[in-house]
Amino acid sequence: MYINGSWTDAEKKQTMEVINPATNELIQETAKADETDAAKAVAAASTAFPGWKKTTAKERSSFLLRTAAILREQTEELAEILTAEMGKPLKEAKGEIGLGIDYLEWYAEEAKRAYGEIIPASSSSKRLMVLKEPVGVVAAVTPWNFPVAMITRKVAPALAAGCPIIVKPASATPLSAMKIVEAFDKAGLPKGVLNLLIGSASPIVGELMRSPEVRKITFTGSTEVGKKLIEQSAATVKKMSMELGGHAPFIVFEDADIDAAVEGVVNSKFRNAGQTCICTNRIYVQKSIEKTFLEKFTARVKELQIGNGLEDGTDIGPLIDEGAVKKVQEHVADAVQKGGTVMYGGEQASGCTSDKFYTPTVIADAKDSMLISTEETFGPVAPVFTFTTEKEAVERANHSDYGLAAYCFTKDIGRANRVMDGLEYGIIGINDPIPTTAQAPFGGVKESGIGREGGRQGMEEYLEDKFVSIGNIE
Ligand code: NAP
Repeated sequence: MYINGSWTDAEKKQTMEVINPATNELIQETAKADETDAAKAVAAASTAFPGWKKTTAKERSSFLLRTAAILREQTEELAEILTAEMGKPLKEAKGEIGLGIDYLEWYAEEAKRAYGEIIPASSSSKRLMVLKEPVGVVAAVTPWNFPVAMITRKVAPALAAGCPIIVKPASATPLSAMKIVEAFDKAGLPKGVLNLLIGSASPIVGELMRSPEVRKITFTGSTEVGKKLIEQSAATVKKMSMELGGHAPFIVFEDADIDAAVEGVVNSKFRNAGQTCICTNRIYVQKSIEKTFLEKFTARVKELQIGNGLEDGTDIGPLIDEGAVKKVQEHVADAVQKGGTVMYGGEQASGCTSDKFYTPTVIADAKDSMLISTEETFGPVAPVFTFTTEKEAVERANHSDYGLAAYCFTKDIGRANRVMDGLEYGIIGINDPIPTTAQAPFGGVKESGIGREGGRQGMEEYLEDKFVSIGNIE
């Protein structure tokens, strides 16, 4: 753990193991924090706040840029750690680290643009202004599926805004988090400004949520846990950002470039073995092109290589744990039982180095009654539904409690415009299966979350507006 600028054991000397899902082997033991350590981190961050708030934007920016440069140099090493602890192919790990660095660099610039406002007053004797101020101490809780980018997407804007931050990464992936914090430490970040707590969620996050000194919670993870944190934040009225689950529709119209759409779905569905919040969960194909699409799509999925992410040529690594494999098995069994046709896959992969690999799977004849049509599968399973009209496609795409990302492939600009307007989602990819980028707002509507990360909007989440009215100025 890293508290108040020092690497430290847990107060109670507890430890936990980090396991490689591709081999089931132990990678490393780490400290395991509890509420006592969390309280220490809160005290350190609170003490650091006044000094950090006073630094200039240029100073804060320089720490972010130095850290970005260190991480860029360490990309190979960090990518191997990331792949070992969560399984994604090395090429994807490098891509994620690139995105993580982009957030650091982008917010290093944005730190200098936290402009306030002067408002025209109703009286000539008054001057009205809005000052931008950092929220205060921030608690960040992150998931295992993007162990680098989900941390820098929170830490970069928080530090840029002038907030100290305490990070609690997922228990499965603390090693990438340690590398990121090590880079900030090397960059000379003042003590207490960034703290890292590794361990089980309840004791650590419970303490962070109870603390009145923690003024903001930023969470990325499941909707189920997000709802609990929303409830808990009421006790001390914390500001919050919630990046929660998704259930992305991917609509392919008959006028689309079908080859591009196939490649797009493969990218969106099978990246990270289907374990991304914005990955495609429901593929809606216009009835007239169903046969062609399924042939091309299935042929392409057959080419995907399963294996240890550290091996060259791997497209699909292991799932994170046994629970994840079980959920995928349940969804596939349910789909088959309700009339789905398995075009390819549909089983746990054999001959692999652990029991956590699942064959990429295509299911035709998907129906709205299937579990897969409403629950996040978080695995490499692609159900293909059909539709007849544009109106039907949009209505069915919107039929979800989630509202994170949605995709549409069409060459008709008018249709693209109508569909974009009709989809109730926070992120829309039109002929673009990978829309995430540091300079744009990322986040969902409905049960997919509250607030945005990335872009100038992501910085606002760490700032408060302080209104000042000055009288008697004449
Ligand atoms: P998760 O189970 O909700 O865990 C996320 C984080 O919350 C982990 O650090 C976890 O710690 C912690 N946590 C678990 N139970 C908690 C509790 N009762 N109180 C406080 N914290 C708790 O989610 P996950 O399985 O790691 O990630 C997958 C989910 O994240 C999916 O639903 C996915 O869609 C979503 N996601 C969303 C975005 C987005 O930007 N919208 C991005 C990526 C992922 P432990 O690991 O110690 O349990």
